[in-house]
Amino acid sequence: MTLDRILQSQGFGSRRQCAQMILSGDVLVDGVPCDDPRADFVPDGRVLTVDGVDWRYRAHAYVALHKPAGYECSQKPQHHPSVLTLLPAELRLRGVQCIGRLDQDTTGLLLLSDDGQFIHRYSSARRKVPKVYEVQTSEAVQPEQVASLLAGVLLEDEPQPVVAQGCEQTGSHGLRLTLTQGKYHQVKRMVAAAGNHVAALHRSQVGGLVLPGDLPRGAWMWLEADDLDRLA
Ligand code: URA
Repeated sequence: MTLDRILQSQGFGSRRQCAQMILSGDVLVDGVPCDDPRADFVPDGRVLTVDGVDWRYRAHAYVALHKPAGYECSQKPQHHPSVLTLLPAELRLRGVQCIGRLDQDTTGLLLLSDDGQFIHRYSSARRKVPKVYEVQTSEAVQPEQVASLLAGVLLEDEPQPVVAQGCEQTGSHGLRLTLTQGKYHQVKRMVAAAGNHVAALHRSQVGGLVLPGDLPRGAWMWLEADDLDRLA
């Protein structure tokens, strides 16, 4: 592929804008300036420097965001800014999308990608990827609430009881719930059906991928091959 197309695929702008950046001398390949937009570029293992910042070519973008409260998982948000505004322009221009959704007031691990097949695979209810939620409840947790979440609770519009794959009490007002389905407001509705109320909700894990403790709220990180393996 030519260098201008490579830059376009990485979200640096239209092909014309990318060609202009290259012509202006703003692009280095392995540290050497390259001012030919049509130069053939084989990405494997080569380092692009754009406007002084090193950029590793990636065929697809897979990222984890530590979602703060007050952001919507939508391209067209209604009441709060979109989580996409927390990402750099290059990722937004690549067309990354949320994989599943968290409510605006939920915090924690949110995955995004521009790989359509990957998004489909991990958004599909059939895949049953376990997701771990840390729940703060407004009333003290009762042992029978834990028991009923594990046995299954009836939700409106759901013909069968909905079961938590895991549920443990983490404090007087705390629960750790593991769910394999992704129903609308599922944690909030299940906890309400068990006789309590969600005061705060945080997703700490998707599959085997744990939200890193050192990733601040609002920050994002690339997911590498070993991270993606942990999701399966
Ligand atoms: N369940 C909820 O109720 N809300 C979320 O954001 C995620 C799961």
